Amino acid sequence: MEVLETFAEVRNRHRGTVGLVPTMGSLHEGHRSLLERARREADHLVASIFVNPTQFNDPADLSRYPRPIEEDLAMCAEENVDVVLLPPVSEVYPSPPRTQVLVTEVTNGMEGFHRPGHFSGVALIVTKLLAGIQPDLAYFGRKDAQQLSVVRTLTTDLSLPVTIVPCRTVREPDGLALSSRNVFLEGGDRTRAVELSRGLFAAADLVEHGETRAAVIEETARSEMKHVDEIDYVELATQDRAELVSDLGDTPTFLAVAAWVGETRLIDNVAFDIVDGQVVTDRGVRMPAT
Ligand code: AMP
Repeated sequence: MEVLETFAEVRNRHRGTVGLVPTMGSLHEGHRSLLERARREADHLVASIFVNPTQFNDPADLSRYPRPIEEDLAMCAEENVDVVLLPPVSEVYPSPPRTQVLVTEVTNGMEGFHRPGHFSGVALIVTKLLAGIQPDLAYFGRKDAQQLSVVRTLTTDLSLPVTIVPCRTVREPDGLALSSRNVFLEGGDRTRAVELSRGLFAAADLVEHGETRAAVIEETARSEMKHVDEIDYVELATQDRAELVSDLGDTPTFLAVAAWVGETRLIDNVAFDIVDGQVVTDRGVRMPAT
């Protein structure tokens, strides 16, 4: 006989835990790292592949978003995913949604400002996936740091019975964060794209040497990004509320960038966590050079 203390423990004891990895497909090694971790930690592994139309503020971005479904299913099979949810749009949106999941404050700046409507689409699809699948654990990448803040806020505010598991950013050997949109980087774009991570790492170096002023940290990152076409923002914000700060202080923060390289808009960040009262940088993990 077992004596357990929480509803979650009792529920999971007889049905096992369900882990969910939500994706928009075009899977790469970043997605694979989420699947691997979820496979280790959950009894049943569900991956969803759905290019969610409501989170695209630019119709051209939606129509050209890559959809290599055979390769995606092959990766899911390699990672021993139990169930892939690959829904038609009509399953997720049987009629135009009249219900919104409006996450305030956390969505004001950065991606929320530059991509109006993006986070209402994200909040809606994440709520639908969590309600429809009812996972115990849901895995999200730190690559999308503000999205992670939004997801954590909505699950707390709506008392959703799920644990959000943040996963480290996976990078190319030269530092470029893996992204489904990297396939659009043509010719010299790929070389220029590495300036985003180079800038973030230079800023992280500075922080490790004791710098705390946001303006100096941001300017250091910007100064490495001389050849990108346009920088939407370089900003230091809190991890819990995505609120801009003028100094590192003693709350967990992230330094985020969004920039255009050719026709492609890229985002990236480094996290400044607080461990035992100390700032600890998380630059993510680089894949080994082959
Ligand atoms: P997406 O398919 O772009 O919506 O991403 C699905 C999930 O994978 C999100 O939680 C992302 O944050 C995560 N993700 C995307 N790129 C990376 C990466 N380079 N490293 C780790 N996680 C990532």
